[in-house]
Amino acid sequence: MKDYSFYSSQEFEEKYTYTGNDLGATYGPDHTFFRVWAPTAQAVSVLLYRDGAVAAEEKNNIPIKATEMVQSDKGTWTATLSGDLQGYYYTYKVLVEDQWREACDPYARATGVNGKRAMILDLSTTDPHGFTSDAIPDDFHNITDFIFYELHIRDVSMDKSSGIVQKGKYLGLTETGSVTPNGYATGLDYIKSLGVTHVHFLPFYDFGSIDESDPDAGFNWGYDPVNFNVPEGSYSTDPYHGDVRIRELKQMILTLHDHGLGVIMDVVYNHVFDADTFCFNQIVPGYFSRQNPDGSYSNGSGCGNDTASERSMVRKYIVDSVLYWAKEYHISGFRFDLVGLLDTETINQIMEEVHRIYPFVFFYGEGWDLPTNISKPNISLTTQKNADKVPGFAFFNDTLRDALRGSVFDTTDTGYLAGKEHLEQTIQKCFIGLPDWCPSPMQTVNYASCHDNHTLFDRLSLTMHNATRKEKIRMTKLAAAIVFLSQGIPFFQAGEEMLRSKTDENGNIVENSFQSPDEVNSLKWEALGDPEVVDTISYYKGLIAFRKSHPILRLCSKSAVENSIQILQDLPNNVAGFHLHMRGAEMIIFFNPTRNALTLSVSEEYKYIYINDERAGNTPLATVEHGTVTVNPISALVVSI
Ligand code: CA
Repeated sequence: MKDYSFYSSQEFEEKYTYTGNDLGATYGPDHTFFRVWAPTAQAVSVLLYRDGAVAAEEKNNIPIKATEMVQSDKGTWTATLSGDLQGYYYTYKVLVEDQWREACDPYARATGVNGKRAMILDLSTTDPHGFTSDAIPDDFHNITDFIFYELHIRDVSMDKSSGIVQKGKYLGLTETGSVTPNGYATGLDYIKSLGVTHVHFLPFYDFGSIDESDPDAGFNWGYDPVNFNVPEGSYSTDPYHGDVRIRELKQMILTLHDHGLGVIMDVVYNHVFDADTFCFNQIVPGYFSRQNPDGSYSNGSGCGNDTASERSMVRKYIVDSVLYWAKEYHISGFRFDLVGLLDTETINQIMEEVHRIYPFVFFYGEGWDLPTNISKPNISLTTQKNADKVPGFAFFNDTLRDALRGSVFDTTDTGYLAGKEHLEQTIQKCFIGLPDWCPSPMQTVNYASCHDNHTLFDRLSLTMHNATRKEKIRMTKLAAAIVFLSQGIPFFQAGEEMLRSKTDENGNIVENSFQSPDEVNSLKWEALGDPEVVDTISYYKGLIAFRKSHPILRLCSKSAVENSIQILQDLPNNVAGFHLHMRGAEMIIFFNPTRNALTLSVSEEYKYIYINDERAGNTPLATVEHGTVTVNPISALVVSI
């Protein structure tokens, strides 16, 4: 690749930073206006098509019309086409570096199958009944009030035991009354019954790994973006007509809102499916992606390319995109994949722009420190250690995850749940929402499992060969108690509460199931007939209900934590204990990962046990006699006054 560092010069930026809000196609009943940013192009045309699909034979791809665009402000090109063009498709044909290239519009809001051509669309025609009066739920004003359930759109419905009719589709999440053959509620009804506040969906923007013309041919998590502002077509009932996926996704979101659940979108701005063919890079070669000194793409993402968010028009593109999803789809929050590759100014601008209109939309992401070749000096990246530079942005707490179950980089390692020693201090810091890198409990997302790596139950099985199933269930419950009682934001992978396992046809456990078949990935709802699973789910529900009714578990600042929580000293080896007090609420919490039942003393005013090894909830389970409590092996205990 040639050297594209000139894009990052101050001179280029001053000359070519366009700040208007009309990039893309602006539909009107009499005409449609197009504006595309192509500062290095020698000529640009807009090609109009009747069909959204690209024909296999080149000779069959004849546009209805090709219209030359004219140069306009700051490197943009414009054209106006008259008539009502609703439902037509278009591309840009660009002469750049002496080569003609045809590309989809980076600002496309709708596309045909597989995202090759953009669609001209009056978005108001895609609103299902009731959507115009729908809004982002605002019952939760602090991110510490959120409880995230991480779900893949296919996983919820694909297994036959789901009882869901519209398998693998957005609409599968609009079905109520779905049950297993034994009559247990599944899908939407089940998720609602857990008490979680938000469903965090794995990517549902348009990604490239699934052929939308044959959506059941494969499975993918979808961390391979093609069109950032378009919903994925394989989850719709008709990927050929660009409006259908939009309407069906909105229907899913509306239905979740009607059931009291907010929607979180997993966004992957840090890289694209293929840097060479990505439409932005087709139109402005090399602009979107970071480059190494030898001309190759920077690859801190491990996915072939890294996004150059420090460039003004990439930054604007990401800010515009997030704002668009919040506005058009009523998204409650955004989970940024590998946000450690994006610069802090971009993230701060996103939060500022979105919060100006939607103050209760929240942002979090993976703040891993990755080697990337930033194209400008003095740029800070959105990593955990820079958490103080992005106040209000939360990070996945891998400190807690690894402390609980062992390092993800060593699949034989164990953690606190297994009784591994010298982890009390880490557990204590995580419990108060202040692991070493974290300045505020508002900035830590606490979890024991997510889609990456092994499920919690599989990890315990792989590292604890001698543990019985009953012991592994105790460890699962202890992990959940630590996650839901800690300061910060609780998060869990769908099915963790069902002791989810991902195994292939040979019974082997699959670690990263990003392209494994549905048989590996889907939620196996038949597990709901297992009394041990039912018991674990009810423990999760109890913890969630307890968290929701105790504001003291959802503090919002370091000082509030320091004023309200004391770490108990002089406890037996490996045991962690805490005293929480705020406005009349007083409780003591113990975590005992050892194989021994421990008798511990508490002050006489503590009378009621709300959480023990068996159950959790808002109803007292037992009373405390003579200031003495027993914390059973591998369990949590909560006593209150
Ligand atoms: Ca796609």
